[in-house]
Amino acid sequence: MQSKIKSLKKDVLSALASAKTEEEVRDLEIKYLGRKGPFSEIMRGLKDLSDDEKRTVGKLANMTKIELETAVHAKFAELEGAMMDQIADTEWMDITVPGKKPRVGHRHLISKFIDDLEIIFGRMGFQVAEGPDLETEHYNFNQLNIPADHPARDMQDTFWLKNLKDSVLRTQTSPVQIRYMEANEPPIRIVSMGKTFRKDSDATHSPMFHQCEGLMVGENISIANLKAVMTQALQQIFEDASIKTRFRTSYFPFVEPGLEIDCTCPICGGVGKLPDKTPCRLCKQCGWLEISGAGMVHPQVLENVGYDSKKLTGFAFGMGLDRMVMIKYRVNHLRLLFENDLRFIAQF
Ligand SMILES: [Zn+2]
Repeated sequence: MQSKIKSLKKDVLSALASAKTEEEVRDLEIKYLGRKGPFSEIMRGLKDLSDDEKRTVGKLANMTKIELETAVHAKFAELEGAMMDQIADTEWMDITVPGKKPRVGHRHLISKFIDDLEIIFGRMGFQVAEGPDLETEHYNFNQLNIPADHPARDMQDTFWLKNLKDSVLRTQTSPVQIRYMEANEPPIRIVSMGKTFRKDSDATHSPMFHQCEGLMVGENISIANLKAVMTQALQQIFEDASIKTRFRTSYFPFVEPGLEIDCTCPICGGVGKLPDKTPCRLCKQCGWLEISGAGMVHPQVLENVGYDSKKLTGFAFGMGLDRMVMIKYRVNHLRLLFENDLRFIAQF
């Protein structure tokens, strides 16, 4: 009986050693150590043995069984360890690899530029004023001293509203000046930025475009103030302290005198040529860019809003905002600003 136990032990240990899976080990466990296995059988047979044999065989059988159970558990642990090693080899990830960047929203170049202008003019004491896109003839033309027969009112230029009498999509941001002056007492410093509409559509014009409008009214406001404000603003807009301005006489019904403001070309620095001597295409080699219409507010416009034109003076200016964005960010097609192609917008 004792040699049978020893040979059983040998069989189990060698079978365990060659087992490759947990399932094989479990089968061995059931086969040899289970209730129907040889050890149980030996235990059941003990009753037929002498007392001495009972003691010796019983003890040996018990010890051997415990030994084998321990070996089985060790084998389970070994196989599990091997499996974990395998998982570690095949199912891993490198947590130092940079993640995928979530795609977040992005402000449009024009909205960003409007914010910049608000800050630049804000530093010079200008407040932001707003007005409606849908205007009346009264504010868009009459109050701005634009006579009834002025070509700007022409059906060709202005979007008149069919079913709303005397209403237009504003052709300029200037009506905001009128609304503001009617509601506020001087001194006044405001800028107004927003959409304007005209029946233009070609490579350099869009039926909807953006303007930046400025107005300063008070006592002793002169062209010198206009010059100072515009020079400072343009230097900050183009981030170039060497920018200079020049004024040329012009005509707009709501100012007297009317002026065109030019600034030195920020691309070539006013030289007309790039550093590599190639001609500057933006300013067409003249070194200057037309940037803004402006002038001293017409006394009639001041009277229209109830201001005393004998005591008060003021200047006003209006700039095409889209063109300034194109100059500043070197955008060569106007349509890029309005197509909303994310590949373009995301660059800024
Ligand atoms: Zn130039």
